[in-house]
Amino acid sequence: MADVNKRNTDRHQVVVIGSGFGGLFGTKALKRADVDVTMIAKTTHHLFQPLLYQVATGILSEGEIAPATREVLAKQDNATVLLGEVVDVDLEARTVTHQVLGRRTVTSYDTLLVAAGAGQSYFGNDHFAEFAPGMKSVDDALELRGRIFGAFELAENMASKGEPVDHLLTFVVVGAGPTGVEMAGQIAELSRKTLKRDFRAINTKEARVILLDAASQVLPPFGAHLGAKSKKALEDLGVEVQLGAMVTDVDERGLEVQDKSGERRRIEAVTKIWAAGVQASPLGAMLAEQSGASLDRAGRIGVNPDLTLPGHPEVFVVGDMIALNNLPGVAQVAIQGAKYAAKEIKGRLEDKPAQEPFKYFDKGSMATISRFDAVALIGKVKLSGLLAWLMWLGVHLIYLTGFKNQFTALIHWTVTFLSNDRSQRTATEQQIFARTALSRLPKGATELVSEPGTFAAEDRRAQLEAQAEEESRLTDAGARGRAS
Ligand SMILES: Cc1cc2nc3c(=O)[nH]c(=O)nc-3n(C[C@H](O)[C@H](O)[C@H](O)COP(=O)(O)OP(=O)(O)OC[C@H]3O[C@@H](n4cnc5c(N)ncnc54)[C@H](O)[C@@H]3O)c2cc1C
Repeated sequence: MADVNKRNTDRHQVVVIGSGFGGLFGTKALKRADVDVTMIAKTTHHLFQPLLYQVATGILSEGEIAPATREVLAKQDNATVLLGEVVDVDLEARTVTHQVLGRRTVTSYDTLLVAAGAGQSYFGNDHFAEFAPGMKSVDDALELRGRIFGAFELAENMASKGEPVDHLLTFVVVGAGPTGVEMAGQIAELSRKTLKRDFRAINTKEARVILLDAASQVLPPFGAHLGAKSKKALEDLGVEVQLGAMVTDVDERGLEVQDKSGERRRIEAVTKIWAAGVQASPLGAMLAEQSGASLDRAGRIGVNPDLTLPGHPEVFVVGDMIALNNLPGVAQVAIQGAKYAAKEIKGRLEDKPAQEPFKYFDKGSMATISRFDAVALIGKVKLSGLLAWLMWLGVHLIYLTGFKNQFTALIHWTVTFLSNDRSQRTATEQQIFARTALSRLPKGATELVSEPGTFAAEDRRAQLEAQAEEESRLTDAGARGRAS
């Protein structure tokens, strides 16, 4: 059973799926349009994914890179935020069904903007995910933080008893794209600088950090020159870069690798991080099935040059979900696409002619390797070292959402970059194990809440009242701490 989101206005209704770069920027671009916008997303935060690795390695807190969309849009009167996972889009009926904790809601639209992004791809080996988390969400980053800092803690425990710790002090990052390079660089800095005085039984500087990839170079989209520079910089930091190495299996204690020569080997490592491959949101396949649009191997949907779904001018799809002219899966593609779609929606309402096809303006790519060292590709200009790092710093600061977050991120960066300290090292057991625990429940978190209407509120109220009365009586009677 699903509730229907009541429509009590004739105003044009825009439903936006997703609160990432496409969803949030699209919603904001509709601020002055004569429309109501309902943003439905799996989380009510906007996530600045490029800085997830800093949450995972203790530099930034999750709040700094994931502001509440409700707060960001508080002053945009025509925007409403709804939490939930979209489980169905009916192109014929023009409705979207979303679900939260088993409760379903149907919302109708006049125009739909789909910006549901992409998830991690394990290239058909989804069972790897249990032992090698990806890096796509706040949950992923916090789990990884727990696993990384937790590995050092377990190693300290075991070393103090004289037991072997190599498997605990080996960190393997799979995938030598920007995320993998940044993660490997940060774990190396963490072990060699931040943690070097904090432990007694282990020498954190001896931790092995391995970055491996089936491809033959680091950072392929940056070209051979910057790829080679990045590899050298990582090796100088102490990272072992293993190229032409394909992961064939992953388990709790390590992973199996097949080299280009055909040789198979095993790496004993408790902490594995999966930074290879993306798979577009399954909503792409759902839309493709109903519209007849094409779908590529990464699940990205083929859209028209104006970002609409074939046969459905009222549906725009933007960002990581689309396959159009080999556009890369980067934030600017989503931002520019969403702004383009918003302009088209406004233009249609004002009877303006359609825009020219969507054209992406490439503002360049950057990746950090370590403190004061990055690579940047801006047009044909290739930069590396301190200059690239300063540019990286400026760009990321500008694009972080909200002054509050920019300010606190700057403080944390100052602390980390000037002193090597990290102030966000908190990690809990639940952080590490909650994902696996939830995945073992057939219906996930839905199993942990009562069905609508079945919660015995009056019984619970009576219990709470009796408990409060007893607390109060004990205090008034001075009866605490006395034998009864
Ligand atoms: C670790 C990492 C580092 C990156 N670094 C960079 C970088 O340095 N520079 C750069 O330009 N790009 C970078 N990217 C890529 C960039 O973040 C993406 O290209 C961008 O986020 C795409 O925007 P999007 O709106 O398409 O999707 P996203 O930003 O991923 O947003 C998708 C939204 O949809 C929601 N959603 C998904 N499915 C559903 C559903 N069924 N129902 C409801 N909501 C749903 C999600 O909760 C999310 O809010 C990085 C990505 C990652 C993962």
